[in-house]
Amino acid sequence: MGIEVKGIAKRFGAFTALDNVDLSVRDGELLALLGPSGSGKTTLLRIIAGLEFADFGEIRLNGEDAGDRAPRDREVGFVFQHYALFRHMSVFENVAFGLRVRPRADRQTNAAISARVTELLRMVQLEWLADRYPSQLSGGQRQRVALARALAIEPKVLLLDEPFGALDAKVRKELRRWLRRLHEEMHITSVFVTHDQEEALELADRVVVMNHGRIEQIGSPAEVYDEPASAFVCDFLGQVNRFDCEIENGLARTTQGAELRMPGLNGTRGAATCFVRPHEIDLVPIDREGPEAAQVRLIHQIGPNARVELDYAGHILEVEVGRDRLPALSLSVGAWCALRINNARVFPR
Ligand code: ATP
Repeated sequence: MGIEVKGIAKRFGAFTALDNVDLSVRDGELLALLGPSGSGKTTLLRIIAGLEFADFGEIRLNGEDAGDRAPRDREVGFVFQHYALFRHMSVFENVAFGLRVRPRADRQTNAAISARVTELLRMVQLEWLADRYPSQLSGGQRQRVALARALAIEPKVLLLDEPFGALDAKVRKELRRWLRRLHEEMHITSVFVTHDQEEALELADRVVVMNHGRIEQIGSPAEVYDEPASAFVCDFLGQVNRFDCEIENGLARTTQGAELRMPGLNGTRGAATCFVRPHEIDLVPIDREGPEAAQVRLIHQIGPNARVELDYAGHILEVEVGRDRLPALSLSVGAWCALRINNARVFPR
């Protein structure tokens, strides 16, 4: 089922939480709402669910105006970060709950409910825990039960608010992959909220980047990462070196007085913010200090890459270098290098 969000605005008192938001979620898509705390992600999700009402604008589900429909009539399932399971109910009964409280006319027989719950528990790989109570589960297992419970009513749309937020990094990563596989099997239109850019880029078909109640950009993970539409998006998505500059004659002079040569400056003049990702800089060892020299401060070696932190005329910057290249560069703390910037994004200020 597709979702259309048109001109949605929401204020809480004098505070504007959402400001004229337009968004179209395609049928079967997995969409991430990504943004810093307070950018309006949860409010937008709650308005789609019908848990909150917009001051202006329209929500259409499957082409029909859903603005006046109660949550239960929108055929949405949701999972929240701290979505408490019913503590006094077993895993099995938690998942069965939505099926048992249906109006009598729509209710299935006990045998049919039982078969459906068993199937759902198999899908979330928790069949063996059916008789346990929530207090006897790990955080990751609880989130999977919450997901099975949301899926039980066969929603047409699945809304997830920081579903893995409270879990440790390793469990989060596992659940992410697992959710992606589940989505590939089921193709339910799904929208999830996260403030973790890695989670959004890894999991979503498209990413919606939000800031101050507005959408800054909508695009595939590659689009928002490689072709950010604004300085905010570039800064928010992944590690990046940022320089506030004055640009003249193809040269960027930083506010601290350093000079940088980089692609993308031709045709630009005046005040700009320049962004360079750590893997877009090459280091060239040089013998001694000079106007173009940067000095190595730290070298972190993690996995196949090394992160080299350098001081360039008072700017601290990060450069990523393949570990196999370190010996040839003979880099060490205190050594001097020249910078070769291969790619940059420049936004007028
Ligand atoms: P987080 O990542 O911290 O959950 P978010 O992007 O989901 O943030 P929202 O929860 O949508 O942000 O909140 C957006 C803004 O609206 C915040 O500044 C918040 O304080 C405010 N807000 C949300 N709900 C209410 C409310 N019921 N009353 C007053 N202000 C609210």
